[in-house]
Amino acid sequence: MHTDLVAALDIGGTKIAGALVDDDGRILARAQRGTPARQDGETVMRAVAEVLGDLAGSPLWERAGSIGIGSAGPVDASAGTVSPVNVPGWRDFPLVDRVRTVTGGLPVELIGDGVAITAAEHWQGAARGHDNALCMVVSTGVGGGLVLGGRLHPGPTGNAGHIGHISVDLDGDPCPCGARGCVERIASGPNIARRALEQGWRPGPDGDAS
Ligand SMILES: [Zn+2]
Repeated sequence: MHTDLVAALDIGGTKIAGALVDDDGRILARAQRGTPARQDGETVMRAVAEVLGDLAGSPLWERAGSIGIGSAGPVDASAGTVSPVNVPGWRDFPLVDRVRTVTGGLPVELIGDGVAITAAEHWQGAARGHDNALCMVVSTGVGGGLVLGGRLHPGPTGNAGHIGHISVDLDGDPCPCGARGCVERIASGPNIARRALEQGWRPGPDGDAS
């Protein structure tokens, strides 16, 4: 059997996306669920299992040889656990073990989502050909990752370059991470909308304030 595909999981505070991806980075199958971020950890894990179940329903699934996870941070890649700031039900959640169990023992690799997108941008995107880069994600949170000296630099726990929880306003709003004035507290998608609403902005006719 050819095991030339990777099953990829992107776990964020708003959605959980899965895909079967080939060696060239082409997405051959997709699945997605909303993240039940305000519910308990087992409910969030069920949504992950449903995404994997959808992928496993594809005839291509038998070609998947491993699982790669990019998760909202912080993560502990060496311990295989995640504690996403925007998913409070997961604290030191053993995501790698749980995904390995769901998928019948396939090897699982975990990294922070900011590092994952940095690897992708360096491989095929905006950072291609650059030896040093900081790549950022702005969505439910703000993440980031580093390329240094031409190589991805995840750091020992997989969080290097996670710029979202660096404080840029020491007297700023409290952040769920415990610090004040974090980049994420100011510049994530939901916080951009929150600050705009506080300043008097009103959403357009579609009512979308996100
Ligand atoms: Zn913070």
